[in-house]
Amino acid sequence: MEYEAVIGLEVHVQLNTRSKMFCSCGADYQSAEPNTRVCPVCMALPGVLPVVNQAAVESAIKIGLALNCGIAEVTKFDRKNYPYPDLMKGYQISQFDMPICNEGWMDVKPEGEPDAHIGITRVHMEEDVARLTHIENVGSSGHSHTLMDINRAGVPLMEVVSEPDIHTSAQAEAYILKLQNIIRYLGVGTANMEEGSFRVDANVSVRPKGSDELRERVEVKNMNRVRAVVRAIEYEIKRQPEVWESGGRVEMETRGWDDEAGVTIVQRSKEEAHDYRYFPEPDIPPLEIDRTWVEEITSALPEFADDRQSRFEDEYDLSEYDAAVLTSARATADYFESVVASRGLEGDDQSAFAKEAANWVNGDLARLLNAPEGPSEIGDTKIEPEQLASLVGLFQARTISNAAAKEVLEEMWSSGAAPDKVVAERGLLKVSNSDELLPVIKEAIDNNPNAVEDFIGGKETAVRFLVGQVMKATRGRADAGVAADLLTQTLEEVKAAR
Ligand code: ADP
Ligand code: MG
Ligand code: ZN
Repeated sequence: MEYEAVIGLEVHVQLNTRSKMFCSCGADYQSAEPNTRVCPVCMALPGVLPVVNQAAVESAIKIGLALNCGIAEVTKFDRKNYPYPDLMKGYQISQFDMPICNEGWMDVKPEGEPDAHIGITRVHMEEDVARLTHIENVGSSGHSHTLMDINRAGVPLMEVVSEPDIHTSAQAEAYILKLQNIIRYLGVGTANMEEGSFRVDANVSVRPKGSDELRERVEVKNMNRVRAVVRAIEYEIKRQPEVWESGGRVEMETRGWDDEAGVTIVQRSKEEAHDYRYFPEPDIPPLEIDRTWVEEITSALPEFADDRQSRFEDEYDLSEYDAAVLTSARATADYFESVVASRGLEGDDQSAFAKEAANWVNGDLARLLNAPEGPSEIGDTKIEPEQLASLVGLFQARTISNAAAKEVLEEMWSSGAAPDKVVAERGLLKVSNSDELLPVIKEAIDNNPNAVEDFIGGKETAVRFLVGQVMKATRGRADAGVAADLLTQTLEEVKAAR
């Protein structure tokens, strides 16, 4: 029988608010020394009261709006009870039946597959838990122990739950990448999977293709890269049909992904599942979400990557590929638009310039940004958008050669110098007058008698070789077209004199 996968993703997104979800401790737990971002509230001492972080609520609304969700008029917090040492209070403040955002959707473009429409069930607010580090077999005693860092307890966490509308690993990948992109465009979090600020749990089941039943699913955890999610889903899509086909049943269970072995392993069966005994958080009254606030947030939302990409294709006449690369990060798209805007061009002139600017931003500048040393955020480079625009202008006007432009860019990158200054100081202006070029051409001809004989013998490609020699001698400054003309002329003269 042919099977179809049914997948729903639950994603925990950490917010980068200044303070924690329910107290005024800093939320910068990653960079802080262990247990330095703590107070009676997040340590769960008796008698304390949580206070809701308004910035976190605002971020939750932004995420909900970006995912086309309805924003609740009234939302409330609930206690989710379970005993585990990372949970300071013995319960997590979360949301159960009245989450802040409901019923949205996301359209995705999976690699090599048709577009897909994925429902979003809900987005709710909760708090992160403390971080435990297990250390085994310490020293000669061989003891094991667990270190506890409370800094992370109480950091704002959003859970984004999808409908079981995902049917392939490529759709899941596209969904995750787009959600990360949205979080980063909004600036509400880093959405970094490796550092744990974006955690994906995948619920996977299979069913006979064409049916609409929902069969038992497993929940796969412990994947800290997008690639791992894709592999884990593919593993389950292969494993589960085999279970059904052999007459068995897929059990409802939690499985962990073992990245090295490339398999999922049972962690917890349904019998061991927690009963969380949710009940309303008595210390936080339900929140009424003011409609004018929601409208303000809506009108301040950024233009997201998909729309921006389409606009770049239309407005600047860029290829789909260039526009996609430029809009993959908001800062890159902003930078590119500043570069183009600083020229004040219109119509075809603007398109021609934009195309050239895109090549430099996506090409040489991106290469410098990706190098291990130096800043990796485009907003942190020493190269102001106006300066890059002047460089692109110089290159586009053929005032400097490609090699010279690259040299200037490197200098701008390391010192922040203005391109025309670098060009002047290093004498990089393109050489196109014959007075300067003729001596170099003569030298090339004198030093390469074989190429000259080739030319006389009718091999016109010899000119190309000699142009290369001229470029070398002028360190790329010669105007290649002019050099080729002058070379041909001189060679014809040599030939005629024979
Ligand atoms: P729970 O409360 O146990 O987490 P939910 O009903 O809230 O369960 O669903 C959690 C996730 O599991 C959602 O993303 C949902 O889309 C997905 N899901 C539910 N049923 C299935 C199924 N049969 N196959 C795959 N995913 C499912
Ligand atoms: Mg769940
Ligand atoms: Zn605190």
